[in-house]
Amino acid sequence: MKFIKNKSIGFICGSQHLYGDKLIENVSNNVKKIIGNLNNSKRIPVSINYTKVVTTSEEILKTCSELNNDKECIGVIIWMHTFSPSKMWISGLKKLTLPICHFHTQFNKEIPWSKINMDFMNINQSAHGDREFSHLLSRMNISRKIVIGHWTDENVHKEIGVWTRAALGWDEIQNLKVARFGDNMRDVAVTEGDKLEAQIKFGFSVNGYDSDDIFKEIKNLKDVDISSIIEEYFSEYEITKQLKVGEVRHSSLVDAAKIELGIERFLEKVGCMAFTTTFENLGSLKQLPGISVQRLMKKGYGFGAEGDWKVAALLRTMKVMADGIDRGTSFMEDYTYHFGHKGNSTLGSHMLEICPSISDSKPKCEIHPLSIGNREDPVRLVFNSKTGKGINVSLVDMGSSFRVILNEVESIKIKNKLPKLPVARVLLNSKPNFIDATRSWMMAGGSHHTVFSLDLNFDHLIDFCEIAKVECVKIS
Ligand code: MN
Repeated sequence: MKFIKNKSIGFICGSQHLYGDKLIENVSNNVKKIIGNLNNSKRIPVSINYTKVVTTSEEILKTCSELNNDKECIGVIIWMHTFSPSKMWISGLKKLTLPICHFHTQFNKEIPWSKINMDFMNINQSAHGDREFSHLLSRMNISRKIVIGHWTDENVHKEIGVWTRAALGWDEIQNLKVARFGDNMRDVAVTEGDKLEAQIKFGFSVNGYDSDDIFKEIKNLKDVDISSIIEEYFSEYEITKQLKVGEVRHSSLVDAAKIELGIERFLEKVGCMAFTTTFENLGSLKQLPGISVQRLMKKGYGFGAEGDWKVAALLRTMKVMADGIDRGTSFMEDYTYHFGHKGNSTLGSHMLEICPSISDSKPKCEIHPLSIGNREDPVRLVFNSKTGKGINVSLVDMGSSFRVILNEVESIKIKNKLPKLPVARVLLNSKPNFIDATRSWMMAGGSHHTVFSLDLNFDHLIDFCEIAKVECVKIS
């Protein structure tokens, strides 16, 4: 599913009038060349828009205000091609609430030693112009990313791309709505937290609904809608024999499809792109939502089990940040350890709800008993995760502040068959090693619920935390 529609980044170049209009015109052409180059990079997921080269405090204030009011604009790249006395920027920066990427580049790559004169120097002054600007940002305590290097460098494109994805996450989380069907699992600590403070800090709102709100939607479904979902199941998954048409458990597959449609219809109605369920508040639902939650995550919804609204918001945010990368990002739980003679690993899984975006093959659609939830046997997708480098991310409420905890992990191949474990799973090696990573995670107060991503890395989350001004613990 695509998330990024018309989002854009504004590019502001700062200058002054000291060197005349002709020079400003040259600079303006250079800015257009730089933007054209950045827009051609596959590493930057949204388009960058040109704005007029600014030379006065009035122009700076106007440009900053316009970008700030543009709903599609998710961040601003700022570059001083020359010395732009920074007191001119104070009123504009006060208006700017968007994430800032301070792009410390220079139009010319190398010094033309035999030809260099003062005209050349005047048009290539970011070495001191950007220092003046950055002093003001530090003085005003404005967080930003600084990207350094020539604008044609691949690494520069990569860093701007990473920051852009963080800015997309920030754009998303500020307006995100999370629906909770039921409360948190009783007596659990880490899924609790201050929802009011979370909204003040990150912007996302969390509101409670009832599982019977889903049930009401189910009662209004048309047969044709349900059968089209069932068709999708048959085309996308290997359906176990019992669930096939005419077989004894087929009605359970129909019930699962109804739950999926019921949840989706309700979320659309209330405008929520993330949700939680809990097995203790299932109301009239026939099954604990399994395949339905898995498929909704694949469509881009954030999800947290047992009422975990923080991980639900984080998952939706990270899915938006990862848009178009397509390796996979899922809700996850550190479940079971393997203390092996060749090293220790963690089996990540949940009783049902793992996103098939991380599946390494066509998922199997199965039905098995589940003692938890006290309902009929739930239908679920079963698969192993893709292998490769990834991250585990946890957002916790420490009472006086929020904290994001990051651990670099590697998903490794599960060599054994698991004939009696009918849930999706991933086998993870933690970095730098099992003991240090696990101790650090626990000391930092990290949750057992995480967002596991094969799409994003430390850099994306660190940039996000910088924009959000939230504490970030990095374990690697
Ligand atoms: Mn759980």
